[in-house]
Amino acid sequence: MGQEERKLTDEYEISDVLGRGGFSVVRKGKRKSSDHHDDQDDESRKQVQVAIKTLRRMGGGKTVIQSRESRGSKQGGGGGGGAGAGGGGGSMVRPLPMSGAAVSDALLTNEILVMRRIVESVSPHENVIELYDVFEDARNGAVHLVLELCSGGELFDRIVRRDKYTEVGAAAVVRQIAAGLAALHRADIVHRDLKPENCLFLNERPDSPLKIMDFGLSSVEEFTDPVVGLFGSIDYVSPEALSQGNITPKTDMWSLGVILYIMLSGYPPFIAQSNRQKQQMILAGDFSFYEKTWKNISSSAKQLIKSLLAVDPQRRPSAQELLDHPWVRGDSAKEDQMDAEVVSRLQSFNARRKLRAAAMASVLSSSIFLKRTKKLKSLLGSHDLSQDELENLRIHFKKICANGDNATLSEFE
Ligand code: ATP
Repeated sequence: MGQEERKLTDEYEISDVLGRGGFSVVRKGKRKSSDHHDDQDDESRKQVQVAIKTLRRMGGGKTVIQSRESRGSKQGGGGGGGAGAGGGGGSMVRPLPMSGAAVSDALLTNEILVMRRIVESVSPHENVIELYDVFEDARNGAVHLVLELCSGGELFDRIVRRDKYTEVGAAAVVRQIAAGLAALHRADIVHRDLKPENCLFLNERPDSPLKIMDFGLSSVEEFTDPVVGLFGSIDYVSPEALSQGNITPKTDMWSLGVILYIMLSGYPPFIAQSNRQKQQMILAGDFSFYEKTWKNISSSAKQLIKSLLAVDPQRRPSAQELLDHPWVRGDSAKEDQMDAEVVSRLQSFNARRKLRAAAMASVLSSSIFLKRTKKLKSLLGSHDLSQDELENLRIHFKKICANGDNATLSEFE
């Protein structure tokens, strides 16, 4: 059956909005024809409640999805695996060349390409989000990714809600992220945008797995996308990514180092009043452990952060090596309750971040923005954004990043 004949709403009931990204909206979905049978296996049961991420395309025309049978063999030869995918009829995606595509087309194609590689080479993995299906909605210029539903909330949201927060608890989080990264890196996937908001808990249970998600900016080794890195905060970006150097799996290890620094202090390692200054600090690996906030943190944790935030990527441990680190295993991590200030700083850091993310997401639909460049309405629907309009959009994003992203250390104190 041709891909075009499948319609998302024929197979899924769509309900609440779970969140919005710069170019996407994520909704909850329920598979129709999902009457519960006792003989249903775990996999089918899991795929009943899903998250549907809808990405709108700026550029038009090209079909990025092909049926499983006819997809190209450029990536990994199309091995038959595909565990966890294709639950609703087996559509999957084929990579398209990036060159010459409009920005969002490139990003969209990239996300689908990476998700496909995950389906082929990683899934199912406890710490990596699963893709179940893909629908192209050519009429609306959209693509729907049917994903594993993560209803347990974002990483920092849960940490700040915990009654007890210790180094041992933080180490358990790092262990999960490292396990997910190790699997991705084995499949030659570099996430490139690892940050706390891209780590969601699968469910509300205290022992819920943590899932790495949002592969919009990720890269597969042999297929690097030059547009990566246009948007978003630079807080988690490695020196080599800033200096356009060679991106390797170690790039993700730097981001994990930043996440760990924030988890143990409540503020980021590189704080400056301008992005330019922050960039310079990152390039020089210029961070420190302020005595006042770090005095109660174990030296093992500090050593680990130092190794992850090494400017030379080769000096950083790999994800696999991290899993054997005594602090990450929990052996040398402290069991004492963390200082109350760490949690309250983490709370305000998280609140600021959310505000910024909401501004980023809303700017695309803001009426002022749309009025100013009327044609940008097409961003949410039709297919013809000129290069100038794209540039406008990019500048707008940059302004938001520049204004909303910087702080002084005193703001965290
Ligand atoms: P951008 O697309 O601009 O990078 P983003 O990473 O925040 O932004 P999405 O990946 O589209 O964008 O996610 C938007 C929000 O939707 C997330 O912050 C999260 O709250 C929610 N979300 C995304 N995927 C899922 C999922 N699988 N389960 C539950 N909620 C999800």
